[in-house]
Amino acid sequence: MKLATFTHSGSTRIGVVEGDEVVDLAAAAPELPREMTALFAAGPAALDRAARAAAAMRTRISVDDVHLKAPVLRPPKILAVGLNYADHVAESGREAPGHPTIFNKQSTSVTGPYDPVHLPRASQALDYEGELGFVIGKRCRHVPRGRAAEVVAGYVVVNDVSVRDWQFHTPTMTMGKSFDTHCPAGPWIVTADEVGDPHSLGLRTWVDGELRQESNTKELIFDCFAIIEYLTTAFTLEPGDLISTGTPGGVGIAMKPPRLLVAGNVVRVEVEGIGQIENPVIAEPDETVRV
Ligand code: ZN
Repeated sequence: MKLATFTHSGSTRIGVVEGDEVVDLAAAAPELPREMTALFAAGPAALDRAARAAAAMRTRISVDDVHLKAPVLRPPKILAVGLNYADHVAESGREAPGHPTIFNKQSTSVTGPYDPVHLPRASQALDYEGELGFVIGKRCRHVPRGRAAEVVAGYVVVNDVSVRDWQFHTPTMTMGKSFDTHCPAGPWIVTADEVGDPHSLGLRTWVDGELRQESNTKELIFDCFAIIEYLTTAFTLEPGDLISTGTPGGVGIAMKPPRLLVAGNVVRVEVEGIGQIENPVIAEPDETVRV
């Protein structure tokens, strides 16, 4: 099942994407929660209900007629992994880490799968990182690797947009990873049952149609389940938490000479079996109004 958050006729709600159409769950199953995190928190029976209601619903909306938003509008946590593909470790001039290199992106950095990414007023060092992300479906702690698949609701495409000079202001990378609009995610959540093995998915990133990154999630140093085991050793993961697994080689800062993003570029990230997100880069507006 593909679960999306979308705006249509002035309201934002969740739905099931089938082919090029969306079933509005607010209409098909009005008793269900109207927001993605709450849907996952309601448990497997709610997801079963969503699937059955979507299959039975005749009224559908063309995907072209909705504005797809980030599937989880405000994840409780966003965690990401640095240095998690060997070729990216090499291009970074770093050593392969002994533990996952975890950092935070602020939850306010999330934006939609086709929404603009801002070239900040504060920096010109804007870069892309195409990644596989996953969304937690169950509150969990101390999850052994062998049971980690049980807590994954599904998978998304993420662009871990990075401001390279601000990234290195501190070892935590927090500032340069958290600018507003710098976590495009989507275009929907493909539920874990439909993805199957998340560690054999092709991953590609293009800038203005030029292929910049091409890899496969089988190359992950710490895979999704190892990341879950590691994180939950320390803290609870909750429904809606978004985890981005790291980027392969081919980022702009590592090119010789570096090829950073400029206003007017369009960045497309594709993960096999999940979909594509495509975000234009625009100059940060003078005044940003967030809805
Ligand atoms: Zn990254």
